[in-house]
Amino acid sequence: SYRRGGYHAVKIGDQFAGGRYIAQKKLGWGQFSTVWLAYDTKDEKYVALKIQKSAAQFVQAALHEIDILSAIGDGTPSYTKFVAQLIDQFKHTGPNGSHLCMVLEFLGDSLLRLIRFTRYRGVPLTKVREICTCILIGLDYLHREHGIIHTDLKPENILFISPIDPSKDPFRSGASPILERPEGGINRNSVASHMEKRLKRRARKMSMSLSLGRGNSIQEYLKPNRNIDEIDVRCKIVDFGNACWADNQFTDMVQTRQYRAPEVILQAGYSFSIDMWSFACIAFELATGDMLFNPRAGQGFSEDEDHLAMMMELLGKFPKKVATSGAKCKDFFDRHGDLKRIRRLKMCPLKKLLVERYKFSEKDGNEFSEFLLALLDLSPEKRPTAQQCLQHPWLNAIDYAPIDIFNNQNNNNLENLNVGIRNLEIAVGK
Ligand code: ADP
Ligand code: MG
Repeated sequence: SYRRGGYHAVKIGDQFAGGRYIAQKKLGWGQFSTVWLAYDTKDEKYVALKIQKSAAQFVQAALHEIDILSAIGDGTPSYTKFVAQLIDQFKHTGPNGSHLCMVLEFLGDSLLRLIRFTRYRGVPLTKVREICTCILIGLDYLHREHGIIHTDLKPENILFISPIDPSKDPFRSGASPILERPEGGINRNSVASHMEKRLKRRARKMSMSLSLGRGNSIQEYLKPNRNIDEIDVRCKIVDFGNACWADNQFTDMVQTRQYRAPEVILQAGYSFSIDMWSFACIAFELATGDMLFNPRAGQGFSEDEDHLAMMMELLGKFPKKVATSGAKCKDFFDRHGDLKRIRRLKMCPLKKLLVERYKFSEKDGNEFSEFLLALLDLSPEKRPTAQQCLQHPWLNAIDYAPIDIFNNQNNNNLENLNVGIRNLEIAVGK
């Protein structure tokens, strides 16, 4: 993909925007872009630099993402903290064409890495509750304040932030940023080589590698007995490349397979509630380490049909209205609302799954399944909104000192939600 119209090749020390940003280390990549840790020489902090592929359709997509990011950066301050912030944007011309670049605040590891870090055993429920609270506040903000549907919520797209400002020294190594192209390979004293050594050491220790230094790492996050009061916001929603305004949708085919809502599969139209479905899938995955639905095509049935069958095994039969309303319904269901090609289902209610397979206590299994089942309603309009979900008692059963989620207590347009967990407890009468 490093050819005309594709990715821009970056070397450590490369300069962008007339020398303002200097590439330090590759952070990740997606279908459309590569993302680099860069040093902002003007504001003297580290940032994430997302460099889009240069072909016309990628430029178009980046312009759209910038539109969305600009909109959401401009909102109630206590809320904007739960979504990634766009700092700057510019064009960079290289051998493969002209690339739109987005400068974003530098964030940490993703939820996917957290799940991998637990060796797919899942995160303790108290942590799940905290993370869920952050995601829900972010979603509520997108949905209610901006009318934006994310459409691609998944563990990779939720990134942690650190209570220690990572933009100052992301590796907490004391090393200074690389300010020019190192000659003859990487400078021994550079952040990058320091990082490499550190990562190797740690990778050996844990037989896996994490992308970031201590300040932003999962290890720090899981450290017991840390002072919870230091933490405000824990994680943020990122990747608005597929987000859309609810009243201006441009495609039917949205969401990553495992987090895809039934109405999207059935092509029955969609709204904010598809994000709520994905959110429930993420919450389950965090708590158990397993994907809730991971369908596969088999002999005589498609991936879509397997997916619908799994939903029915967990949640029961589709309501008639749903099973008949989408463009694709006739392909999958007969007139009784049974699947045409998968006749035998192994029913397994969620609570049973949690208690028997994942060994949750009866009480935890009950409470968690009750929380999730409302979100996994096969009728999209019956799912609670993010706002309603934030009021749910399950989220408020946190057994440590409450976090003051909102610094800014003076927003009256969102006053219902402008409460910390402490106030939520009062709100639900605990
Ligand atoms: P794409 O739209 O091409 O999928 P993403 O926005 O998902 O690009 O970014 C690709 C990867 O880059 C992410 O999965 C993550 O690992 C990393 N990344 C993205 N944004 C940031 C950020 N603000 N801070 C740190 N890493 C980031
Ligand atoms: Mg992505």
